[in-house]
Amino acid sequence: MNALEILIENLAKLPGIGKKSASRIAYYLLSADRSYSKTLADNIKNLKLKIKTCSICGNYTEEDPCSICTDTNRDRYTICVVESPKDITTIETTNEYNGLYHVLMGALSPIDGIGPQDIRIKELIERVRENDIREVIIATNPTVEGETTAQYIAGLVKQVKGDGIILTRLALGIPVGGDLEYTDRLTLARAFQGRNKL
Ligand SMILES: [Zn+2]
Repeated sequence: MNALEILIENLAKLPGIGKKSASRIAYYLLSADRSYSKTLADNIKNLKLKIKTCSICGNYTEEDPCSICTDTNRDRYTICVVESPKDITTIETTNEYNGLYHVLMGALSPIDGIGPQDIRIKELIERVRENDIREVIIATNPTVEGETTAQYIAGLVKQVKGDGIILTRLALGIPVGGDLEYTDRLTLARAFQGRNKL
């Protein structure tokens, strides 16, 4: 295989990119300015070199702790629990929420062998125990896995804090079987306003 074919094959592995799009991108890069493909190659290389995981919340960041964890203007008594760093970006666009986050890096899925020790649940419980946290908003996806995870976390948080903490779950507006990432801004904003006590 020549360099062009190898690139097409690798581009086709990207999510949402089929063989046809991969081929279009590769031919475009071949005809485009050399500086552009160099910048793009550097960007991809830097991604793994520079982006790390925040040691507190688990968000992707260049600086550890991340800018949300160190922001003193945010409400430091509330933690919103999400499955992936992408969900933080989505929630931030609503401007409805000004607290902290906790990324689980997945959801409980017994069928796939994903148990509590495989996602960042222990870290969450430690944060809740050791800090003055007054509300935990569970914003896992409205799927079977997300729902299982929410119930499991709610049980643990109650064990640690008893009735001294408000537990809520995003509900209204998000379609069942849906994905936070693909929920529109308004729907997500309404879901935040209408969150329910667990
Ligand atoms: Zn952080």
